[in-house]
Amino acid sequence: MALFGKGVRRVCAVVAASTARGMLRQLRVALGSTRTVELRLDWLKTDAERRRFLNGLRRHVSRTATFLATCRRKEGGGKFTGDIARQLHWLNQARQAGCRWCDIEMETFREFPDGFLRAYPVPPRILLSIHDFARMPKLPKRIVVSQHGQVDALKIAARARTIADSVRLLKVAGRSRNLVAVPMGEVGLPARLLALREGSELSYAPVEQATAPGQISLKEMLQLYRSHLLTRLTRVYGVIGDPIGHSLSPLLHNTGFATRGMDAVYLPFLVQQLGDFLKAVSDFGVKGFSVTIPHKQAILKHLKECEPLAAEIGAVNTVVVQSDGSLYGCNTDYVGVLRALQRKMRIEDRRVLIFGAGGSARAAAFALARAGAQVSICARRENAAKQLARAVGGEAVPRRALGTQSFDAILNATPIGMHPHEGISPLSVHELQCGIVMDLIYRPETTKLLEIAAQKGIATVSGVNMFLAQGFAQWEIWTGKRAPEAAMRRAVLAALRWRS
Ligand code: NAP
Repeated sequence: MALFGKGVRRVCAVVAASTARGMLRQLRVALGSTRTVELRLDWLKTDAERRRFLNGLRRHVSRTATFLATCRRKEGGGKFTGDIARQLHWLNQARQAGCRWCDIEMETFREFPDGFLRAYPVPPRILLSIHDFARMPKLPKRIVVSQHGQVDALKIAARARTIADSVRLLKVAGRSRNLVAVPMGEVGLPARLLALREGSELSYAPVEQATAPGQISLKEMLQLYRSHLLTRLTRVYGVIGDPIGHSLSPLLHNTGFATRGMDAVYLPFLVQQLGDFLKAVSDFGVKGFSVTIPHKQAILKHLKECEPLAAEIGAVNTVVVQSDGSLYGCNTDYVGVLRALQRKMRIEDRRVLIFGAGGSARAAAFALARAGAQVSICARRENAAKQLARAVGGEAVPRRALGTQSFDAILNATPIGMHPHEGISPLSVHELQCGIVMDLIYRPETTKLLEIAAQKGIATVSGVNMFLAQGFAQWEIWTGKRAPEAAMRRAVLAALRWRS
């Protein structure tokens, strides 16, 4: 029997604010999405605010809502500065206000003799919580929580420094009853999102402010990742990179899955060591993944097969996990550049200059050369420019020559002007002697480079178009279906415009 109910009830909204008003506002939002709510009484700044909040709470108590009171002391990682007696006082008040559950941290629990808490008038059901904000502790294979009848459930919240750490914690949850597994930190985020399907009784998400490292909001957990609906049958995809927090790929792909009503999810994996992630592919049941900086080249040696063009480019941004577990790689940045530019011009026989000679410049150079363009490369390292130009049958152009030559299109394939350094342009206005300027950067949607090009009357193409096109291609490779492009585009553009 599930401790907290089924489905969305296993997603516990965390209500945490310094004032009673703020807590009550969050509580109303929380109850609009789930029926299980943790109330962080320790976040309230004074006893008067706690009293006011618990008075207000009474109006929201009902048979269908489960409230879990927490008044965690500083020693246990919370904000409450009072002693244990005061902590128990507030948990007792919470019980009187209608809380059926309380969270008591190990730092408090171990101060009491056996059976003491059961006799004390705190909320009748006790969740004992163990936190380690620095590392994953040593874990037994299985934990028998109710062995001595002292508590009803056990929560282990620990920082996952590697993906392997988070897998270990989920495995314990899968083998134990009444266990809440919370892998903390950005590395632990995919496991946090998969915790419910792996057997954790609860998964936590703040209504507003994060109360633990690596948390995502309640809205994202329910709407973007639909973590309460994930099962062992759900197809898991993701993106690997470092950094990864800024990526809009989860929004793009999950919108596609939701629009087509597919049982699939796409997760952000912060990957420092490729090997750490690759070992977890079968544990998480990953069916395919996107690859971004800094792993696009390094992934090549882990592939069983690779699309010849991706091998020639020397970079893979899309991996399919085949039924025998082996990896097949391809490159959709290639398609992305072409589709984005083709919307504005015919490519055959046109002169196109690419500024930069890194991974995306290589994909663009091969794509454009194959489509019949005359490709020129300009990069701060002239040798790199020459090498790439040679590989695609184009020519290298020194920077000083830029203002003197004209092109049909100029593409920026450097990160200059990317968020958070929006104010700078990789090229000056007099260097833009061309009919079209395309920036591969997609955040911000309109970069400084595009801004000065437009002021000069030059047509512009934002990197968003490439980002979307490479993403649509990935989605179609993995699912074998047509991507719902309009919905995916709408979601990404709304997020970009909202964030800028
Ligand atoms: P990369 O492999 O690191 O290559 C970056 C290139 O920019 C290199 O040639 C590098 O030169 C050059 N560069 C960096 N800083 C420079 C500076 N201050 N002055 C002159 N040149 C500089 O990166 P990438 O994967 O090609 O990505 C480049 C940009 O494209 C990023 O902003 C990325 O977000 C964007 N991108 C967008 C999409 C999309 O879908 N829209 C897809 C892929 C990439 P050195 O080799 O000398 O360092």
